[in-house]
Amino acid sequence: MYFTPKNGWDESKYGIVDRYVKTTFTMKTTYRLHVVDGVVACFQFDSVAVMTQMFEPISVYVEGKTTVPRVGHNFPVIALQDAVKKGCVEGHQLMHRLTPKIRYVVAYLAGDVLTKNHELQHAKYYLDSGYREKIVALWNGLEHKKKAYIECFLKRLGYPEHVWLDEFQAYYMTEKPNFFGIKLEC
Ligand SMILES: [Zn+2]
Repeated sequence: MYFTPKNGWDESKYGIVDRYVKTTFTMKTTYRLHVVDGVVACFQFDSVAVMTQMFEPISVYVEGKTTVPRVGHNFPVIALQDAVKKGCVEGHQLMHRLTPKIRYVVAYLAGDVLTKNHELQHAKYYLDSGYREKIVALWNGLEHKKKAYIECFLKRLGYPEHVWLDEFQAYYMTEKPNFFGIKLEC
């Protein structure tokens, strides 16, 4: 199937929003935890300080330090387990809040729909191999200079190379079409 930004946008954006309301429960803490599709744990915070305290040390283990403060967090449970093995205390604490079925974790602030969609887009990329293949094909079809521009852009934001494609697709699917400052015709 030929992949276009238009059908990619519809599929990801509305698919995720529909599934989002499936299971909701509230914990007696400073965040609300929703589980999407039984495998994605979504932590919603009212305070950026509390979110940063709980999640930033883990994201530093998984993605490294960023040059701009993170407004959301995302990682697979496998990466979380790896951070715990390397001595991440916050990761250890977070593991205790997850059920064994959870495979992916995202965090964002209440009301920040753009970040919520961005982080859930990462979950989709990780969990849906068919979607991932479409993104790889989309990327491979881009001109070299466009790829180089996007890579530079993501590098400037502080993202390590191993997450560039994942970040590209998350921004591409949830932001305005001109987000990267160039026109992408795919
Ligand atoms: Zn991201």
